[in-house]
Amino acid sequence: MPSNDRSRKSPIPAGPDEAARRNGHSSAVPTRGCIAITADGAVLRTLKTSESLAREVVRTIIDQGLQPGDGLPTEGAMLEQYGVSRESLREGLRLLEVQGLISIRRGPGGGPVVGSVHPANLGRISTLYFHMAGATYNELFDAWMFAECILAERAARASDRTARVAAMAPYLELNEVRETPEELARFVQEHAMFHGAVASLVGNRVLELTLQTMGQIVSHHVATVDDPRIMHDLIADDHLRLARAIAAGHSGQASTFMRDHIEGVARYTRERLGARMDDLIEWQ
Ligand SMILES: [Zn+2]
Repeated sequence: MPSNDRSRKSPIPAGPDEAARRNGHSSAVPTRGCIAITADGAVLRTLKTSESLAREVVRTIIDQGLQPGDGLPTEGAMLEQYGVSRESLREGLRLLEVQGLISIRRGPGGGPVVGSVHPANLGRISTLYFHMAGATYNELFDAWMFAECILAERAARASDRTARVAAMAPYLELNEVRETPEELARFVQEHAMFHGAVASLVGNRVLELTLQTMGQIVSHHVATVDDPRIMHDLIADDHLRLARAIAAGHSGQASTFMRDHIEGVARYTRERLGARMDDLIEWQ
């Protein structure tokens, strides 16, 4: 997240007034360069060899029902199978690697391995777009609240009561979760896991993936400049009542509790970060 060096954050000195006008956001003229969000022009284009190769690898993963950790053919086998250059093969695999969809083990016995489908990786690529478009952390928090309220509301409306109770079971009692984890990374992960459990109930994988990205970005960026563990008790209490509302199927209550929860975290973060909330969302 944000450093205080504002000058470093304006790599594109393109006219922001014009960008805002074309974007229909004339009341929120950015104070630095950004690229206007556009719906103009075709996004369809001819794929490069490496991109076609990446598609083939993905097709293989899906068609063969491979799972995270399963190995893919060696480089030599793939070169023969796909009939592409070594350069294109490596570039194609790299496209998938940066998305976390495969990992490449180096050394003897190494090779490509199936990775995972994680909203954090989708969030990471989103931050590139947010940054270029001039979006700020204030906007991110606004979007995060919107996303989480929808997830909580839909999770509580999930018709399968058994699934709701099972997903919320780890959070229905306070017990040992009162203990503040010593490691920041573990705290961040546990917090994200609760929100992931809520999202898993919405019954729509598009919503489950995309609406989790905002929270994932907040977790990763805020944790790099501040220690959110001070909010541990507040978060544990919030999660407890959210888990109970969702397990009981009270959708209105779930949405309200989630709004309160995100507002609480946002208020705390705003107090700590002050003007840095107006910084561009970093691509990281
Ligand atoms: Zn939370």
